[in-house]
Amino acid sequence: MGFRKHVVNKKNFFNRPVWRNSVGNIVIHPLAYYEPENLDDLTALVNEAIAAKLPIRAVGAGHSYSSAPHTNGLLVDTSLLSRNLGPYPYTSKSGDFIEFESGIRLKQLNKELDKLNLALPTMGGIDHMALAGALQTGTHGSNLTLGAMSQMVRSILLVTHDPTREGAKVYRIEKSDGLTDKNTYPPEAPELIQDDDVFHSVVVSFGTMGIIYAVVLAVERLFYLEERKQLDSWENIKTQLQKGLLAQHYSVYILVNPYPVKGKLSALLAYSDRTGSKSKRTLILEDMKRKFLHRIDRAMRNPISQLLGNFPLTYWLFVWLINRFPHRIPHIINRALRTQQDKTYVNKSYKVMYQGLDYLKERAYDAEFAIYLEQDKYLVLLDDLFVLLQHLHNKYRFQLSSPIELRFIKQSEVFLTPEYGKDVCYIGTPVLKPAYGNGILLYHIQQLFMKHGARPHWGKMNEHVEKEYIQKVYPRFNDWLIQFKRFNPNGIFSNRFSRQMVE
Ligand SMILES: Cc1cc2nc3c(=O)[nH]c(=O)nc-3n(C[C@H](O)[C@H](O)[C@H](O)COP(=O)(O)OP(=O)(O)OC[C@H]3O[C@@H](n4cnc5c(N)ncnc54)[C@H](O)[C@@H]3O)c2cc1C
Repeated sequence: MGFRKHVVNKKNFFNRPVWRNSVGNIVIHPLAYYEPENLDDLTALVNEAIAAKLPIRAVGAGHSYSSAPHTNGLLVDTSLLSRNLGPYPYTSKSGDFIEFESGIRLKQLNKELDKLNLALPTMGGIDHMALAGALQTGTHGSNLTLGAMSQMVRSILLVTHDPTREGAKVYRIEKSDGLTDKNTYPPEAPELIQDDDVFHSVVVSFGTMGIIYAVVLAVERLFYLEERKQLDSWENIKTQLQKGLLAQHYSVYILVNPYPVKGKLSALLAYSDRTGSKSKRTLILEDMKRKFLHRIDRAMRNPISQLLGNFPLTYWLFVWLINRFPHRIPHIINRALRTQQDKTYVNKSYKVMYQGLDYLKERAYDAEFAIYLEQDKYLVLLDDLFVLLQHLHNKYRFQLSSPIELRFIKQSEVFLTPEYGKDVCYIGTPVLKPAYGNGILLYHIQQLFMKHGARPHWGKMNEHVEKEYIQKVYPRFNDWLIQFKRFNPNGIFSNRFSRQMVE
């Protein structure tokens, strides 16, 4: 087989394989660590797991901080599955459909699309994740017209357990009115399943239905976004939200300081809009102008905030300030909001969607839950969250280290995605990893989210959520479970996360 086994630089003191997620709160000691290079390697690995009756699990970039990537069996690092497989040939549908291997990082994927004058319609706030890793946990940006990243998926090549025998099988999985034209699809290609229930179960299933080898995405012609970030009071922004702010822009997200300064909560409103569809030549010329001429200030985000957010010293200064002077947190968060203000930032869509501040973000985690927009349910939850956070801060001096993040996502038909059936607001509550009282803070926050019936992000802190709750808040849970049992008959794709959440 052509793949590397037990990669040398990923061993621990005892010379055993080890894998850590990016934040460092999940450490895995698998029995074996593999880096497959193609579909045959992947199929051989799933066969090995079935024959040896060992659990097997794929990982992407390790940017989840839930225990979704955990395994004590065979670990499949998909880093080498990173090719652009090109335009999908077996379709008669109109549009741009590009197939990528599952382990490609979004940064590389964006570059590949850019070369073709194409772009992702939406993505999360950073581009370090792998494609399948991001999809499997329901990763989202902030977009009420498109939805989360799963909305771009048209076809999935899944290596899984053949339900009819003890061996691996590769399926191409699509919606009932799927992308592939059966008349042109070669008979020797992987078996095609065009079935809404199967597709809507597999897209977001956190690695429990098999290992994804490749994904076909529906993408768009390259476009530009113009973003503005304005500091205001939370009261003003809330009024704008109630008057229909979300319908006015391509993307809106909001950062709120839950701790008042002089009796007032501050917030940063960020919104972006398309600059219009222009020819490639015009876009290139505009890009050059932006880079080299007088509009250089508009082609960059606030350089102070970008510098501070990527500078290790800032991180340690933050950690020290928060733990040593907790009473100053309302002011510290207000200052962080102020440094992120921008008059205007214009750039290619994927550069605007990428929010930066990686160094800080990759040393923090949050509980992030989605709650319906209807009847302003998210505003009711937010009021309760402010009360809880202010109480814990005033009385016990432990608190969030960053503003609350609000992002807005269109409803989806994917069975286990938090925006299933209704438009939602995702509410994120970031804490720096070494901040005092994190565990108990996230416990209280998760309890509050669940009291309001909000649904957890699968890749974020959700350790207090259990199957009974998931079953209650997802109307198609039992339909999802049917597919889970079909593709995972002997439990080789199960792990402690799936046992806690869905089994
Ligand atoms: C700094 C930072 C910023 C973030 N920003 C956002 C954001 O803006 N929006 C958002 O929604 N989330 C965000 N997240 C969360 C993150 O995007 C998700 O949790 C995502 O899953 C990470 O992708 P990954 O490639 O690192 O996946 P991993 O963490 O490696 O894996 C996630 C899950 O996918 C499964 N998996 C991976 N590859 C495959 C495969 N080939 N086949 C089958 N299963 C597979 C794994 O088993 C695991 O269950 C952020 C996280 C960090 C650390």
